[in-house]
Amino acid sequence: MSKHKRRPVPVFEHPIIETHCHLDYLQGEPVEDVVMAAEQVNIERLITITVSPDNLETVQHLVGAHPRVYGTQGIHPHEAETYTNAVEEEIRAHGSDEKIVAIGEIGLDYFYDHADREVQKDVFRRQLQVACDLNQPVVIHSREADDDTIAILREFESTLKRRGVIHSFTSGPELAQYALDNGWCLGFNGITSFNKAENVRDIVRMAPIEQILLETDSPFLTPVPYRGRENAPFYLPFVAEKIAEVKELPLEQVISQTYQNSLKTFFPGS
Ligand SMILES: [Zn+2]
Repeated sequence: MSKHKRRPVPVFEHPIIETHCHLDYLQGEPVEDVVMAAEQVNIERLITITVSPDNLETVQHLVGAHPRVYGTQGIHPHEAETYTNAVEEEIRAHGSDEKIVAIGEIGLDYFYDHADREVQKDVFRRQLQVACDLNQPVVIHSREADDDTIAILREFESTLKRRGVIHSFTSGPELAQYALDNGWCLGFNGITSFNKAENVRDIVRMAPIEQILLETDSPFLTPVPYRGRENAPFYLPFVAEKIAEVKELPLEQVISQTYQNSLKTFFPGS
């Protein structure tokens, strides 16, 4: 890479919203600097996502410390076996705090199987119920679990009013179609720029732009042309460009529409 300078991050006139990152997992720079760098590429708001009982409180503090940072409360399927009544109480207590915009990330991961599948399903259902009770949207993680994800979301079709997003979407067309038909958004990140991810680009093509959200999932999944570096929210413009290219839509339309989608999903009334 030494001879070729990598293209700088493009800056758009219209603001964008980073709908999925893990600010407390970034190793490279202090959160303060990362948020400032995001501001410089016109990222108006960032949603930092919780995954385990250990970072529920961290995220509560982060949203208090940074005006542009919003958060979620929830337990990732990898951590499902750490879910207790006390953890649920914590999520219920803070799940609708002022700058907490969703319950998540929650769901099923049968690729890694870090937690027993029955436990994952139980914990997924319990947190969907929390979202119903708090009238919050949800951020869903689903990997190699399409059938069970659909089955469980069906159970909540009439009670989970605000839906949400299936983030880092890498599942098959059946789950995509179910989600799109039922008012969910699909979240896409740097994976859309990876050579081998044609299956993901096929889903981008089938999803209406009105149901797409932009995310980085940083510190993971750094988009081209910065693969090999730690991912960060300020790379989000590359994701917007890729979605525009794959969907053959004007970049401005992708940016303004996904911005509206983010507001509708997480910031109703703003
Ligand atoms: Zn994530």
